[in-house]
Formats: sequence, structure tokens, C-alpha cells
Amino acid sequence: MSGVDLPNVIVVEHPVIRTKLTELRDFTADHRKFRALLDEIAGLMVYEVTRDWPTRPRPVQTPMERMTGQVLARQVTLVPILRAGLGMAEGVLRLLPDARMGHLGVYRDEKTLSPVSYYRKLPPDVASTEVLLIDPMLATGGSGSAAISVLKEAGVTSMKFVCLVAAPEGIQFLHSVHPEVPIYCAAIDRQLNDRGYILPGLGDAGDRLFGT
Ligand code: URA
Repeated sequence: MSGVDLPNVIVVEHPVIRTKLTELRDFTADHRKFRALLDEIAGLMVYEVTRDWPTRPRPVQTPMERMTGQVLARQVTLVPILRAGLGMAEGVLRLLPDARMGHLGVYRDEKTLSPVSYYRKLPPDVASTEVLLIDPMLATGGSGSAAISVLKEAGVTSMKFVCLVAAPEGIQFLHSVHPEVPIYCAAIDRQLNDRGYILPGLGDAGDRLFGT
């Protein structure tokens, strides 16, 4: 884990993640390979993303004797931003199988680059859970920021934004609106281009994931 000197931004640094991210960036990776890599990286990031979550005591009977173990103190809700966020969901769920899932549909208008919210479905008690908002790319920060606003409206107080590749512009925008929401990523890339794509990035994550 690397503490870049941006407050509340955590770059999850690991040789295996670095390797898989490089393979993911490779334009020759087809949708099958891309899907597998995205899933694997998302799973690997879970250890760092959840590191500071509180646990509570739970008695357990081992085959030898009774003891008091520890389990996660709060329920978890995973919220992928549609559609590319779906590509991270299974990998995270493998580590957190009891998590429930909400869905937020936010797309970026290609002309204005502004986020348009078109779908939301969240667990009724989402406000009392730990929320992981997932989207592979933090580009302009528009969609992420809009999604966080929706979660705040739903009463969520504890959430993290988890992505693979973040642009400095996106980090700055997201934190100008929601400075208290930690951003976890596997890499911070150089910049956005004039169409809002991350450079060097990995292209359109949704298209590459779904083969569209
Ligand atoms: N969304 C993507 O999928 N890729 C980018 O580079 C930017 C936004």
C-alpha cells in the first residue's frame, strides 16, 4: 500500500496487482482475458480496502474448546456503478460473500461529459452498512461523485470508492465534492484526454469487459 501525498487516496501497491494491471492495459487482451484480470485485481484489492474495518467478538466452538473469535462488525453493501463496475463485483464478493449488492446506473454523456443517473436500486438498510462503491475507472470523477451523492441521500455514512485506474483530474474533482470519501486505486495515471479518457489508461473498460 502506498501513501501518495494526496489526502485520503490510497494506491494499493503490490507486484501481483502491478503485473495483472499491465496485462489488463494491453490492448491485445480480449474480453475473456480482460474480465478475468479485472475480477482478479478487484479481489486482490479487497485486503487493503477492508483493512481498517472494525470487527466484533463472536464465540466459536472449535473441535478442541470454546474461544472468542472476531468477525466483521457491520454488514457490507457492494455498489457497482453500471456497467463497468459489474466487472469488479464477483472478485470482491468472493472475499465478502455475505455482502449485499446495490446497483447505480450512471452514464457519461459523450458530449457534455456530465453524469446522467438512470437507475438506482439499493438495499433498504444500506445506511447502516459499510459501502464499497466500485468502478474500474475514475476519469472525470463526474459519475463517481454523482453516485456518492445518491448514496449520501440514502443515508450512507461509511463508504469507500474503489477503482483500478484513477486520473489526477478525477481524484481532484471527486474530493472537491466529497473529500471525506477514501479513494482506493491500483494506479494513478497521467491525465485525461479531451474526450475524458484516461492516459495511458486501458481504454473503455465497459467495452473491453463486455466485448461491445
Ligand atoms: N471510462 C473508461 O472506461 N475509460 C476511460 O479511460 C475513462 C472513462
